[in-house]
This record gives sequence, C-alpha cells and structure tokens, in this order.
Amino acid sequence: MLPVAWPMVRPALAPVSIVVLAAFCVAAGPALPASLAGLPALGPYVALLAAGAIALWFNRGRAFIAAVSMLCAYAGYRYAIDLSPFAAKVTYTALVVIVPANILASMVQAERGVFHHHNHRWLLVIVAELLLVLWIASAGRTSLSGESWKAIFEHWALNSPPTPLIGRLLFAAALSAVAWRAYPRPSAIEPRALDIGLAGALASFFIAAEWGASPAVFAAFMTAAGTVLVVAVLQETHRLAFADELTGLPGRRALNERLAALGPVCAVAMADVDHFKKFNDVHGHDTGDQVLKLVAARLAGVRGGGVAFRYGGEEFCVVFDGRTAAEALPHLEDIRASVEDYKMAVRSEERPRDAEAGTRLRGATLPQKMISVTISIGVADRRELDVKPLAVVKAADEALYRAKGGGRNRVST
Ligand code: GH3
Ligand code: MG
Ligand code: MG
Repeated sequence: MLPVAWPMVRPALAPVSIVVLAAFCVAAGPALPASLAGLPALGPYVALLAAGAIALWFNRGRAFIAAVSMLCAYAGYRYAIDLSPFAAKVTYTALVVIVPANILASMVQAERGVFHHHNHRWLLVIVAELLLVLWIASAGRTSLSGESWKAIFEHWALNSPPTPLIGRLLFAAALSAVAWRAYPRPSAIEPRALDIGLAGALASFFIAAEWGASPAVFAAFMTAAGTVLVVAVLQETHRLAFADELTGLPGRRALNERLAALGPVCAVAMADVDHFKKFNDVHGHDTGDQVLKLVAARLAGVRGGGVAFRYGGEEFCVVFDGRTAAEALPHLEDIRASVEDYKMAVRSEERPRDAEAGTRLRGATLPQKMISVTISIGVADRRELDVKPLAVVKAADEALYRAKGGGRNRVST
C-alpha cells in the first residue's frame, strides 16, 4: 500500500509535472536558434490567454480571475521593463501583491462562475488595479502623480525584487485559502483538480516572481502557470462529466464506459441501501444525503481491485475486473459490515415546541441520536466474453433482489 492515499495525490500529478518541466527547461533546456529567440517570451501570453479563454468557456470564475490577473501582470511587467527602472519596480511590486490578493479574494468567495447575475464588479476591480499601477508607475513623469510614491517604494515592506514581505505574506495567505478549499472534508474521495491546479499555478507564479530578475525564468514559470490552469480546467470539466456530484464517486456515464471495456472474467456487484425511503422520511433528506456520502466513501475504499460507481439514487455498482464473484465476495462482505458498524450522530427529531425552551436547549444540550444504516449487495459473474456486460449487471440486480428477500443486510450471489 502507498503511504498516502493515491486519490488524494493524483490531482497534484499534472501541476507538479508541468512546473518541474518548466524548471528543467530553465536549467537544462536546449538553446533555441536565434530566429526563435523571442518564443519563450511569447509562451506566457499563449498559455495564459488559453487559460482565460477556456475558463470563460466553462464558466470557472476563480480560474478566470487567476488567468486574467497573471496575464495583466506579465504584460504589464514586460511593458514597464522598457519604460524606466522605477516603473519596472512598481509594476513588479504590484504584480506580486495584486495577483495573490485577487486569488485570495476569489477563494474566500463562493465559486459562482464568471457570469453570475450580470455582476461584473470584479472586472471593475481589475481595471481599477491597472489604473492604480499606471498612476503610481508614472510618478515623477506627469504633474498628476507626485514624487512621494518613490519614497514609499523604498520602504522595506515593499522593497523588491525579490518578492517583498507583503507579497510573500499574501502568497502564503492565498495558498492557504486554496488548500483550505481543496481539502475541506475528510470524507471527500478526491480533492478537486481545479483547486489543486490553482495552487499549482499560484506556486509557479511565485517562483516566477522570486526569480523575476531573470526574463527567461520569469517567462518559463508564467507559461507553466498558464498551462497548469488550462489542464486543471480540463480535468475539472472531465470530473463534472464523469463524477457524481453528491458522492464524488464516478457516475453512470463512467460505469457504462467501464462496463464496455471489461475482460472475459469479471464480477459486478450491485449495492442498495436498505429501507432508505423510510430513513429519508424519518430523518430528512439532508441526513439521507449524508448517509449516501458515507456509504459511497466506504465503497470507494473497497479492496480486491474493485471500483465503485454510483448507479443512481441509493444504488451503487462495484466492478471487479479479472476477478470472479467468489473472489469479490469477502471484500464486499467487509464493506457491508463496515457500513453496518458505522454509527452516525444526528440531532433528535423531538425538538421542543415553544421558542423559549428551544433557546434553552440550543447548543450542546440538544439531544443526539446514534443511527446506522445497512446495505444489501448482489454479485454476479461474467465468465464468457459473449455475455453482454449489461446482462451481468442484470444478474447482479437479481442477486440483490435475493439479498433483499433473504432479510437484507447481506451479500448474495
Ligand atoms: P429497500 O430496502 O427495498 O431497498 O427499500 P428502499 O426504501 O431503500 O427502496 P426504494 O428504492 O423504494 O427507495 C429508494 C429511496 O431512495 C427513494 C428516494 O427517496 C431515496 N433516494 C434516492 N436518491 C436519493 C438521494 O440522492 N438523496 C436522498 N436523500 N434520497 C434518495
Ligand atoms: Mg433502490
Ligand atoms: Mg433501497
């Protein structure tokens, strides 16, 4: 067994590879022919524009804000470098402060997409940020902006490069916010690739900023940041298509694909929560949803090479490729027992009627009840390639029917 759960690290694979590749290109990449010397400087534009466009297309607000902020930062810095040393310094300081600040702000708010209720205030914020940077960077050049900015930028908290203290603090805060979004619930089967991607893009941006004095390093890691965002939005879109929203398990579409790719020897199990309709009626639909998540998390941890899917409603499917039903049986029995053993605390339904008694009872004194559910499982074999996978699912369903008829909370073949 791996020391860390594989699903927990899997989403980090792509961002880490891309950033490592960028580091490799910087450290050991082959020199480009003179005619292509300008190419690396174009990389961030291509990658960040693609990231912005794809985030816009799939309506991912946080990724869009990250891409637009970094694109403005890169373009602004490239432009300012040719203007004057002070303009370059101001733009640099602005980008290491504003980019993490924007990402932090987007992480604190709920993801509502790029367009929500025609509210484009954040666009105004970015325009205001650009104008402010322009104004400060032109200090001493126009009558509008005085000389005092120059003194302020000598202060140790803003002095740069490398990244000034305030930039590092904001970067740490933004990264913590992303991590907090990425790993919120211990019951989650897998952190979301988009959140991990945002963390990766932020880290890549930070590396770019720390080595901002070198144009090649700056461009390489800004390109990596954009690429990480593109890949993360694609992964997120894949997840939306194939994973079930409530439980995080792969859903029906993924199951159909898996079934079509099964080998001649395999076992398919159908699991169904017992008396779930009654459970919903007694404890409410929200508690019912909690139970489905719990059952899904148990099924996701099935051993013996099984892969769990949410078939629909309170029904789940576990596919064992290359195993017989007899081989799958003990692992299914483990899952059945672990669901039965799990006790969940819910607030008692008997709440006091009058408001005064309710106020007195609020908090720790509210009575809690321990509840548990059971599941029934049916499992069937496919021994011949010409037996259609759907027929195996049907046979598993019939076995499930027998488990229900036999008194529930059992595994039947
Ligand atoms: P049995 O032991 O025979 O399986 O009885 P049952 O009540 O579980 O069977 P039935 O299939 O009639 O009930 C399924 C119920 O599951 C109906 C519906 O209220 C509930 N259900 C389906 N999907 C969801 C869901 O996503 N969330 C919640 N909370 N309930 C769901
Ligand atoms: Mg059912
Ligand atoms: Mg049921």
